[in-house]
Amino acid sequence: MDNCIFCKIAKREIEGGIFLESDNFFAIKDKYPETEGHSLVIPKKHIITLLDIPDNLGNELIGFVKKVSEKLMDDGFGSGFNVIMNNFEVAGQEVMHAHIHIIPRKKGDGIRFFTKSK
Ligand code: 5GP
Ligand code: ZN
Repeated sequence: MDNCIFCKIAKREIEGGIFLESDNFFAIKDKYPETEGHSLVIPKKHIITLLDIPDNLGNELIGFVKKVSEKLMDDGFGSGFNVIMNNFEVAGQEVMHAHIHIIPRKKGDGIRFFTKSK
């Protein structure tokens, strides 16, 4: 995709700060982080949502998400983390190239993702 920011980072057409990668995925820090260290795991190919990620990449993807999460904790960004993925506009997806958010958490950071009253 010509005008896709994550494709440009994947192809190294622009410097995106890739700090880890596997065969089919890479990780960068989010430009507008929710917490310090907030990162994105992104497929190298232009696919749009989770539904487009081939099943045979499932093991690689979960392994890579774990590796990135462990690195963020090792690097001191948190002692826990949330994994979130917005799929389709109605769920808050703004960049239409699939990506998984990894959000490091620290005690008392005040973040709450689910605010709907029970
Ligand atoms: P979405 O709402 O689509 O799940 O999240 C898109 C995320 O991409 C947002 O958290 C936003 O801050 C991040 N983002 C948008 N443009 C860029 C960019 O050019 N570089 C980086 N590193 N993150 C970006
Ligand atoms: Zn793309």
